[in-house]
Amino acid sequence: MKLILLGAPGAGKGTQAEIISEKYGIPTISTGNIIRAALKEGTEMGLRAKAYTDKGELVPDDVVIGIIRERLGADDCKNGFILDGFPRTIPQAEALDKMGIAVDAALSIEVDDGEIVNRMSGRRVCPACGASFHTEYKKPAKEGVCDACGEDIVIRKDDEPETVLNRLKVYHDQTEPLKSFYKAKGKLIEVEGQDKVADTTALVLKALSVI
Ligand code: ADP
Ligand code: ZN
Repeated sequence: MKLILLGAPGAGKGTQAEIISEKYGIPTISTGNIIRAALKEGTEMGLRAKAYTDKGELVPDDVVIGIIRERLGADDCKNGFILDGFPRTIPQAEALDKMGIAVDAALSIEVDDGEIVNRMSGRRVCPACGASFHTEYKKPAKEGVCDACGEDIVIRKDDEPETVLNRLKVYHDQTEPLKSFYKAKGKLIEVEGQDKVADTTALVLKALSVI
């Protein structure tokens, strides 16, 4: 299965991606996680991206398209993959088409802006492995510590309130048009994001079972 996850920042794409990935045995490719890893390592790409991610702006298309082209060529993508955070603009979606990649579905997780702002304030991430948590909705077993690897979890810099508002604007302006793009191809599936992670998962898995 080749799947794209769409939805506002904080809609729960990463959380659902982890679950789908396990269930279907396919890797999740998160451009956000790849960019954060590059930032942490201080690579040239990371340094170039930092100016954009800190402000909640999108990293230039050519940078992320390059990342994806390289990553999708890896062996573990042969049986399918989940794209979390790519494409995020029409040119990125067109680049995917040009790579000859036809996705089975673009699953959009719908959540209101007000709810997004509320959620982002409680979001925590693991700086070591990228796993995501929430102080209310997805608590780690031990407070402040990553379930997967034991590292201390942190607030992402771009989850600060002003940056979140800008990211929502960027989402509506640049990413939301992708829904029409995939709808026109008959590939769009919309799911209402629920308060509980497990309730959203149930809707997501039901939607995926028919493709
Ligand atoms: P979000 O919670 O907003 O979905 P991500 O972890 O997916 O966050 O991405 C964090 C940041 O990385 C984005 O705000 C953006 O600056 C950059 N980024 C990630 N994916 C892309 C992409 N496909 N195109 C451009 N920039 C991207
Ligand atoms: Zn971790």
